[in-house]
Amino acid sequence: MQNVTVMNHPLVNHKLTHLRKKETTSREFRELVKELSSLMAWEVTKDFPLKEIDIETPICKTTQNVLAEKDVVIVPILRAGLGMVEGFTNIIPKAKIGHIGLYRDPETLEAVEYYNKLPSDIAEREAIIVDPMLATGVSVIHTIKLLKDVGCKNIKVVHILACPEGLKLLSETYPDVSIFCAAIDDHLNDHAYIVPGLGDAGDRLFGTK
Ligand code: URA
Repeated sequence: MQNVTVMNHPLVNHKLTHLRKKETTSREFRELVKELSSLMAWEVTKDFPLKEIDIETPICKTTQNVLAEKDVVIVPILRAGLGMVEGFTNIIPKAKIGHIGLYRDPETLEAVEYYNKLPSDIAEREAIIVDPMLATGVSVIHTIKLLKDVGCKNIKVVHILACPEGLKLLSETYPDVSIFCAAIDDHLNDHAYIVPGLGDAGDRLFGTK
């Protein structure tokens, strides 16, 4: 799959292993998600354009690079996506944040939207959707459609863990969207949990189980 980047870095692998462990506390889990998100933000921003500016060091005048203005919106899918926001805003401090809340209808299995608050200039921004888990892909596909409907042209998706089933559906539905993840696990089980995975990311982040 051409539009999928799997982070391959010892720090990412190390932190992900600790994130998976069932004895990891909610406090540790939140910290690890934040740290992993910051590490992933380096990869996600590596195509950000630079521009030259003239500066003066204590030694001489010189021309050097700074980031060209690029407007970004981070879009966490509630609620687990919230855990990734700070890691991204640490690296992209000027980014705005838009929130999308979805739940899965138990009968139709469709994503149902219960919250939507996006910046008014979203169409001019690069959108980075964050959600720790790519399971069936239903939520993220709904979110991408919603962002495209309001005019977003440049969309990236960042998951900590993905599975082959969700990746296939997502990359086939939106081949123009770049997908980043820290690892691709083995499969989805009958309860739509990633195996070996890490359990329910929302519950582990917020201590609700
Ligand atoms: N969402 C989770 O939190 N965990 C999974 O394994 C799959 C979806």
